[in-house]
Amino acid sequence: MKQLITLLVLGFYCVITFGWSAHEVLTYLLVKDFLPNSDKLIQITPYNYDEKRVYNKDFLRLDDYCGEFIKSCPLSNACYYPPDPKPIDGKVPVWQILTVYSVEPDLGMDEGLQLSPLQNIIGNSQGVRHMKYNIAIFEFFEGSESFYYFVNMSKEAFNRGDEYWGYRFLARAIHYLEDLSMPYHNTPGTFFDTLRAFTDKEMAHLLSNSHYSYDEYLAYLLYGYDQDTVKGIVQAQPEYTRYLRRLIQKVRLLGLNNIDGVDRLLRRTYGDLLGKRVLTTADYAAHENDLEELKQITIGIISRFSSLARGFILSFLKEVGQI
Ligand SMILES: [Zn+2]
Repeated sequence: MKQLITLLVLGFYCVITFGWSAHEVLTYLLVKDFLPNSDKLIQITPYNYDEKRVYNKDFLRLDDYCGEFIKSCPLSNACYYPPDPKPIDGKVPVWQILTVYSVEPDLGMDEGLQLSPLQNIIGNSQGVRHMKYNIAIFEFFEGSESFYYFVNMSKEAFNRGDEYWGYRFLARAIHYLEDLSMPYHNTPGTFFDTLRAFTDKEMAHLLSNSHYSYDEYLAYLLYGYDQDTVKGIVQAQPEYTRYLRRLIQKVRLLGLNNIDGVDRLLRRTYGDLLGKRVLTTADYAAHENDLEELKQITIGIISRFSSLARGFILSFLKEVGQI
């Protein structure tokens, strides 16, 4: 039954996107002027871990690549990027490790693997690791598990005294946490639309386009350095959560509780266009005045997420003795 539902709902999804874009901007704004040890210099160390997790080795890089940002900004005009200086004397600051490597899980290490019998349906193993769907009473995929995995790896590294890999694994954990705050990473669409997509191919296509389009919207705000969005992140007060499972629950609920609003507002502005194709940053720029409500919901998600993420990062760094 579970597989049947999955086939019906997800069978229309040819390609899946894997979360908010602009992870580097989001993480930079979260940590740079917030962490008490943000500027502490960390000695780059070689990778020396025995992991059970499988990766696509063609894309997994284990050397340090601070100072070599892979820029993927979709805006046609000016784009905001965090600074990315080259290491000096083999050392890089904490903020830079967290910023640079929070993009890493989207660079191919989770692609092309055999992770789940369901992955052929959604087209790629990366989706398995970066999402966590709730459909009716069923849960699919491993976004939360990816987060727990890298929190544990980070802990192991810090316990060994390997600060560089402690921060690099933590950056990957932050990536998966960020992904889980995205509404369409927690469900294909609103409850009734998801049900309709069982039998209505056009609806399934519309939901898929909405997912891609909303990914692009945060990129539009962050790479465009929208002042209200930036403020929503940098001014977020840390919210502490005692258990990681509870943290994941809160982050995922943030996504799930906002799916109705996001979906309704995207459709209100773009109507038929969403059924035809994925929206681009040019579409957002053209309708900037009609998007105030969508922007406020998005800032609401991202600022509450920032509070939760900051609470987590602070308590984690205390636990491993870094601050
Ligand atoms: Zn991702």
